[in-house]
Amino acid sequence: MKRAGKVNKSGASKLCCNSCGKSLRVENGILMEDAFEATKEWGYFSGRDMEVHRFNLCEECYDKMVSQFLIPVEVRRKTEVL
Ligand SMILES: [Zn+2]
Repeated sequence: MKRAGKVNKSGASKLCCNSCGKSLRVENGILMEDAFEATKEWGYFSGRDMEVHRFNLCEECYDKMVSQFLIPVEVRRKTEVL
């Protein structure tokens, strides 16, 4: 992930969708459009022990990814915004 996390001249960090490369709007370190953010710390029982993987997906790419799932994602409705 080369592009995400890069700080531009105005001090705002740039975040991109790892799948389509679309830049996600970040203002003052806050993501201004919703995106899927994944962080995975691989452990001892994987072939990636000690590796931390991180990626972002825009909503469109997230939809594309989950549409390939055999078992759909678990969706829960929040009763209040936290
Ligand atoms: Zn995307």
